[in-house]
Amino acid sequence: MKMERNTVKISPTEMVERQLEKAAKLMKLDPNLLEILKHPKRVVEVSIPVKMDDGSIKVFTGYRCQYNDFRGPFKGGIRFHPDVTKEEVIALAAWMTWKCAVIDIPFGGGKGGVKCDPTKLSIRELERLTRRFTYALMPLLGPSIDIPAPDVFTGEKTMAWIMDTFSVFQGQTEPGVVTGKSRTIGGSAGRREATGRGVAICTREMLKLYGDDIEGKTVAVQGFGNVGSYASKYLTEMGAKIIAVTDITGGVFDENGLDIDGLMEYVKEKKGVKGFTKKSITNEELFKLDVDIIVPAALECVITEENMKDIKAKYISEGANGPTTPEADEYLYNNGKIVIPDILANSGGVLVSYFEWVQDRMSYYWTEEEVFTKMEEKLKKAVKEVYETAKKYNTDLRTGAYILAIKRVADAYYERGLFP
Ligand code: NAD
Repeated sequence: MKMERNTVKISPTEMVERQLEKAAKLMKLDPNLLEILKHPKRVVEVSIPVKMDDGSIKVFTGYRCQYNDFRGPFKGGIRFHPDVTKEEVIALAAWMTWKCAVIDIPFGGGKGGVKCDPTKLSIRELERLTRRFTYALMPLLGPSIDIPAPDVFTGEKTMAWIMDTFSVFQGQTEPGVVTGKSRTIGGSAGRREATGRGVAICTREMLKLYGDDIEGKTVAVQGFGNVGSYASKYLTEMGAKIIAVTDITGGVFDENGLDIDGLMEYVKEKKGVKGFTKKSITNEELFKLDVDIIVPAALECVITEENMKDIKAKYISEGANGPTTPEADEYLYNNGKIVIPDILANSGGVLVSYFEWVQDRMSYYWTEEEVFTKMEEKLKKAVKEVYETAKKYNTDLRTGAYILAIKRVADAYYERGLFP
């Protein structure tokens, strides 16, 4: 799939390869290992026959990429979307590999997807599709092998169906085969807020390292879904002022700071931010605002050659995956902007997924406070390590994060050796 924003066309595969190569060159990575890291370990394509509500049978195509497991079982979401392709799934699985290594959890990277339009399927059809997809992947899944999670258009219910189908075939209940489940069946406290909360923590901590303070900073947020809303909530709690938010329905603006709790309630009812304030704002205007921090938390490729020169904010904290193209990345860095990269900024989600998996394996569950305390500790450490690595190599934070991640994956590889 080509991800098209404005006139910019770049495939996720190209983006992830360019990021990997840039870091590999700087850290003088062994070319043999680079060659291994450029390839996924396994990519499976499956046909999923589904009985539709009208009695007909439709066959969908699904993928699971198991990119790398040098550091532990494969970990990554499952996406239901009409634009799913094998290439996209591979790129997302590669990103998961680096994200898990940056935050230093014992997982590798994976990702899955089914090419379908979930908005056109009934709940029963979605259940049959999910269960049949799980059945097709059965030999590849397991709490010690590959642990899916929600992604675009999948959620707690999808995870419950996967867990149930897997458990039926195992003859025992296996909560640890997926994360992002409801708490009633082994989900973790704090998982829902985790990604947005992580974005806020990483932003606050990174600002500190640059001698700045989150208190009083003005922020513009693109996207007010799971990530954008909780990032806004926690940034506000930390003393920042969210002055603009856009989503698919439109944008809202208040120079005195938006009432985020009020906006969250409003969105629950109205399904979008539009109309919450008298003043409105477009996506285009949002990126041009004279704010301290921009949090892209919606789509990929939104900061591009077309708008990079308009950005006044000093900090860009990437809630979304892949919001900045490599060209824009380079320009922003050369012009003194600080991009807190996605594989660090939004890693709070997979971090709490890891906590969920640990709790499932222990059958002992932590309070929200325990989860948040452990989360703070891990994220603070990762932010510092990324900052120090970037400094050591005199490069941008994204490349710093890649170098840190690649080193960890490389260490595991050298310790384990190459079979046979
Ligand atoms: P979501 O579906 O809950 O929210 C997406 C938001 O983006 C919505 O507010 C939607 O209205 C908005 N949006 C969509 N199209 C838009 C447009 N053209 N202009 C402005 N806003 C638009 O999704 P989410 O879970 O919050 O994920 C957002 C991003 O964060 C994605 O890139 C996702 O891959 C990434 N991410 C999510 C998690 C997680 O745990 N949810 C973890 C890591 C990364």
